[in-house]
Amino acid sequence: MRATQLYAPTLREVPAEAEIASHQLMLRSGMIHKIAAGLYTYMPLSWRVMKKIEEIIREEMDEIGGQEMMMPILHPAEIWLASGRWNVYGAEMWRIQDRNGRNFCLGPTHEEMITWLIKNDIRSYKQLPLRPYQIQNKYRDERRPRFGLMRSREFIMKDMYSFDRDEEGLDISYRLAYDAYSRIFSRCGLNFRPVEADSGAIGGKGSHEFMALAESGEAEILYCDTCDYAASTEIAAVPAEILEKEEMKEIEEILTPDCPTIEAVAEFVGLPASKTVKSMVYDADGEMVLVMIRGDRRINEIKLQNALGCLELVFATEEAMEAKGLPKGYIGPVGVKGIRIVIDEEVAQMSNQLVGANKHNYHMLNVNLGRDYNADIIYDIRMVEEGEVCPRCGGKLQKARGIEVGQVFKLRTKYSASMNANFVDEEGIEHPFVMGCYGIGVGRTMAAVIEQSHDEHGIIWPMAIAPYQVIVVPVNDKDEELIKLSEEMYTELKKAKIETVLDDRKERPGVKFNDADLIGYPIRITLGKKVQTEGLAEIKFRATGEVVALPVAEVVPYVINAVNEALVK
Ligand code: ATP
Ligand code: MG
Repeated sequence: MRATQLYAPTLREVPAEAEIASHQLMLRSGMIHKIAAGLYTYMPLSWRVMKKIEEIIREEMDEIGGQEMMMPILHPAEIWLASGRWNVYGAEMWRIQDRNGRNFCLGPTHEEMITWLIKNDIRSYKQLPLRPYQIQNKYRDERRPRFGLMRSREFIMKDMYSFDRDEEGLDISYRLAYDAYSRIFSRCGLNFRPVEADSGAIGGKGSHEFMALAESGEAEILYCDTCDYAASTEIAAVPAEILEKEEMKEIEEILTPDCPTIEAVAEFVGLPASKTVKSMVYDADGEMVLVMIRGDRRINEIKLQNALGCLELVFATEEAMEAKGLPKGYIGPVGVKGIRIVIDEEVAQMSNQLVGANKHNYHMLNVNLGRDYNADIIYDIRMVEEGEVCPRCGGKLQKARGIEVGQVFKLRTKYSASMNANFVDEEGIEHPFVMGCYGIGVGRTMAAVIEQSHDEHGIIWPMAIAPYQVIVVPVNDKDEELIKLSEEMYTELKKAKIETVLDDRKERPGVKFNDADLIGYPIRITLGKKVQTEGLAEIKFRATGEVVALPVAEVVPYVINAVNEALVK
């Protein structure tokens, strides 16, 4: 490719909405172009990277018995009605109608489509296991599309689904996918960590997210400093701890003027916050619920949502609370009627709790579960914090931020049972397929690589997914000798199947060097003054900054070798 012909409109001014490095660098280097919120064109440079990542994914999926196929992006509503998700998926789903008023959606994921297909085609245990996959556009009307390709509304996903006859089969498929994912992200040059995860709207128990570690990541993970426990903060478990029961004391109502926060009450009463219990009121799919957690803890809304089995969870409005006799800042469980009470497991163990009295400026001391109020649900609903004890080994938990680049789920029979997708065993008995599903965001993976691998000058591509491997830069566009030499090197490298750009623009050397660093070619060959004076050309490695000066005739074989060596790694 000649730089004069490369379609990569570089930007000098990056729009303010590009908050993170990968988004800025992709815009600056002309790799992507935004057409509307969360909708991007992959320009030629990024498309080359995408295709390389896809190829790595294909190789690893095929290696574990995956079979690539392509399903429609447009889904008839019927299949989503059959699984029960048409009315559950919510605002993220793009819904459309055909000319006859029939409902369709743009696929956000394909569990329904693939289960429908398999239900019609596969009848016998003899045809299992089956692991179909595709690499395709997905559509989600995200609440907050942002960070460029990280969270867009149209994005490319590899989705694989596994169909097995039983749980043991699923375990094998899951393990194969998990290991393949580890190889894929390693080959892309990512520093990542698989973590235990919540299964969200997709459902099923048992899931891991693959997190690329990065400060700019939207996800938080906790990992143990001693063993290999790592989990998304969304599900990180609480270490089992048995609290000693105290003797129940007489309940007391106390005046706590101007103490609307738990810290203020604790200080006023002279108790540690760990002796107090916070009560919060939520609206869960339209139902008001009272939620209780130890005063110095935070509620984990994902766990709470799982405890309630609800889809939408928001704080109740102050008016709605007042209408039920629950004054903000002074809420408690005693005497509450007609509202379900959810308490954290830890609260269930606490004796003589300090809670709100459901009366302005008043709290209650020595309140006890069982004697003074009852709970409808007792569940682990709290956020685990950095520094707490590892639930597996007793080590200390550390916190890190990450970008979720992939996720694997054990779906089991969630879809096959609801959609009646069965096979028959040796005895002719019908069973639902035991399923798994496995997704990778291709664009998000590319963005995550940049997020981890860049400097103040631009992107630093790992050789395996660089848009081009080498750029040849003649520094003086008037020197015919240099131009001729650079053309020869360019031709020879191309002949050796090295992906090369020749910077044939009539630009100053500084501009050429800056653009080469910005786009992030792993190797730059510079043909400058030294060619004439000493017969030497310079080879610069983008990642290390290392410069090697070599006699002109040795440059091409050296670079071919360097590229191939980096690819093998
Ligand atoms: P998130 O929690 O970040 O919204 P998700 O858990 O909903 O993602 P999955 O349904 O697990 O996503 O999709 C599989 C993969 O697709 C994700 O791991 C991620 O890499 C990618 N992905 C999901 N949503 C987006 C998006 N809006 N833009 C780009 N990639 C996405
Ligand atoms: Mg996910």
